[in-house]
Amino acid sequence: MEIGPLWLLRERATVADSPGDTASGDARDALIARASFDELAHAVSQCRVCRLADTRTQTVFGVGARRPEWLIIGEAPGAEEDARGEPFVGLAGKLLDAMLVAVGLRRDENAFIANVLKCRPPGNRDPSNDEVAACRPFLMRQIALLEPRVILVVGRIATQALLDPDASLARARGKIHHLDVDGRSIPAIVTYHPAYLLRTPQDKAKAWSDLCFARRVHRDRMATSD
Ligand code: URA
Repeated sequence: MEIGPLWLLRERATVADSPGDTASGDARDALIARASFDELAHAVSQCRVCRLADTRTQTVFGVGARRPEWLIIGEAPGAEEDARGEPFVGLAGKLLDAMLVAVGLRRDENAFIANVLKCRPPGNRDPSNDEVAACRPFLMRQIALLEPRVILVVGRIATQALLDPDASLARARGKIHHLDVDGRSIPAIVTYHPAYLLRTPQDKAKAWSDLCFARRVHRDRMATSD
């Protein structure tokens, strides 16, 4: 008897109607899965599903072109990102920008930068599995709306969260992985996190070869898509 009204209510609802509550599960996921870009950004800004809402200064949705060639996915905001509301703005971010420029990409032109988590874990600790799971619908919808040609996954934490929980960076690099989102299979390439490269500059050459690999994958996609 109640099925009719409930169905109608859900049909009318958008994610912006219930973004900030602690609702989880299928209803929340379904709302997120049909959110527009602006609704999604608003929903992220209001999210209180996990404990990180209590300690963040603000959420960090992501930044860049709405139809990017590449989507870069890192781990989670750090202190500077939490303060400014933009991903990769600290020293690691400057290195990431330089790496992107070297392959013809800019965050404000043809790339989009996001993180697995939209909120900073206190003290920059590793994200927990439940935090990753709570944020996952946001990232999946972001990917579906952005429709990037290639995804660059930076660092072990993002690689494990997105591709394989048991992955090591050594094994994951140099391969074409795929993320299946909304019926599209998007090639994903793994490389080192720029914060790691700041500590280990001798591995920058390997990161450069990862970027060149991703660029080839991107070019192949351009050549085969209409
Ligand atoms: N490290 C990340 O993984 N993401 C950021 O936004 C900043 C640092």
